[in-house]
Amino acid sequence: MKKIALHWQILIALALALIVGILIRQLPEGFQASALATFTFIGKLFLQALRMLIVPLIVSSIINGVSGIGTGEDVGRLGFKTLSYYIVTTLFATLIGLTVVNLMTPGISDGRPVGDLIGLSEKGSDIIAKIGSQEQIRLVDIFLRMIPINIVSAAAKGEMLGLIIFSLLFGFGMTRIKGRHAEILVGFWHAIFYVMMLLTDWIMRFAPIGVFGLVAKVVLLTGLDALKPLLSLLFTVLFALGLHFFLVLPLLLKFIGGINPKDHYKAMAPALLTAFSTSSSSSTLPITMDCLEKRAGLSNRMTSFVIPLGATVNMDGTALYESIVAMFIAQAYGIDLSIMTQFTVVLLALLTSIGVAGIPSASLVAIVIILEAVGLPIEGVGLVLGIDRILDMCRTAVNVFSDTCGAVIIGKSEGEALYSK
Ligand code: ASP
Repeated sequence: MKKIALHWQILIALALALIVGILIRQLPEGFQASALATFTFIGKLFLQALRMLIVPLIVSSIINGVSGIGTGEDVGRLGFKTLSYYIVTTLFATLIGLTVVNLMTPGISDGRPVGDLIGLSEKGSDIIAKIGSQEQIRLVDIFLRMIPINIVSAAAKGEMLGLIIFSLLFGFGMTRIKGRHAEILVGFWHAIFYVMMLLTDWIMRFAPIGVFGLVAKVVLLTGLDALKPLLSLLFTVLFALGLHFFLVLPLLLKFIGGINPKDHYKAMAPALLTAFSTSSSSSTLPITMDCLEKRAGLSNRMTSFVIPLGATVNMDGTALYESIVAMFIAQAYGIDLSIMTQFTVVLLALLTSIGVAGIPSASLVAIVIILEAVGLPIEGVGLVLGIDRILDMCRTAVNVFSDTCGAVIIGKSEGEALYSK
C-alpha cells in the first residue's frame, strides 16, 4: 500500500481533531474532562519531545553552521543577507498590518468603538497577571537577555536569544583556531548535530498524533463560540496574514529567489502544519530544518545558519499581529492615534517581534509593551485574549514560512541548487 505523505497525515489529523473536538463538546462534562486530559497528555508528549531537542539543536546547528561557513568575510556576508531579509520582510508585514487595520477598522462597529459593545471587564493588573509578571514586560530586559550571564541558566529558562549569541560567538571562535583542536571541535559538533537531526526525524513521524492532541484540546477548550464577538478582528488579522503569506512572500520567492512558490509550500507543509498546531516557532524548529534539508534540498550549512536565528528573530506574523492589535485597541476605545504614534507602533512591533521568544502567546507580552509605550490602556489586551490562540496558530505558521523563504532565497543567492529533482 502506498504510504500517505506526512503533510497529508498531519492535515487529516487536524481535520479529525476539529471534528472530534466539536463532537465531544456536546457530550456530558465528565466525559469532556477525561477527553481533555487525554488530548492534553498526547499533545504534551509531542511538544515535550520537540522541546527536548531545541537546546542541543540550536547550539549544535549554529556552531556547525557558523564554523562551516568559512572565513569571517563569508560569515559577515551571510549574516548581512540574513538580517536584511529579516528586517525587510518584518517591516513589510508590519506595514501590511497597519494598512489593513486602518482600512478595515475592526475596532469600530456601526460607528461605535467596540469596547463599549464587548464590555471591558478585566482590570489592567489582572491582564498582566494572566500574561506574565511586570518585570517580564520591559523592552530593555528583552534585549539585555541577549547577553546571558550564564548560558546554562539561559538554556534552562528557554532564553534562546542569549543561547544563539553565545553559539554564534563560539562558532566564530572555532574558525580562528587551527590544527588538532579545530579538527576535534568540528568533528564533535558535526556529530552532535547529525544525531539531533536523526532524533528530529523520529519525532516527526509522531507529528500527526501530536497535532491531533494539540488541536483537539484547543477546540474542546475554546469551541467556536469564543470567536463570534470578535469576528471582524479575526478577519482583519487573517486577511493581513493571508496577504503576507500568499502574496508578499511568494513574490519574493519567485522574483528574488527564482523559486516556484508552489514547490516551496508543498515542501514546507509539515513544518507549517506543526507551527500551526504548536503555536511555537521554537518547538517547530527541528521540523523546519528537516523540511528544508530533506524536502527542499538546502545545504546543511545554510539551514544551520539561517533557521535557528530566524525562529527567534524573524517573526513577520507576530509583528503584523502586534501592530493590528495595538491599533484595534485604540479603535475599540475610540482613541485616535497620530501618524507619529502609529510610526512608533511600527517600530516597536518590529523590535519586539525580534525580542520575543518563539513560544505560544509571546505576542501578548509585546503588545503590552507597545500599549504602555504609546499610552493606550493595557487592559485592552483583554479584548483579544479569547481569540488569541487561533490567531497565534496562524501567525506562527507565517513566522515559520518567512524563515524558510529567507533560507531558500539566501541559499539560492549563494549558488545552491534547490528543488532539483
Ligand atoms: N507563537 C509565536 C511564535 O512562536 C509568537 C507569538 O506569540 O506571536 O512564533
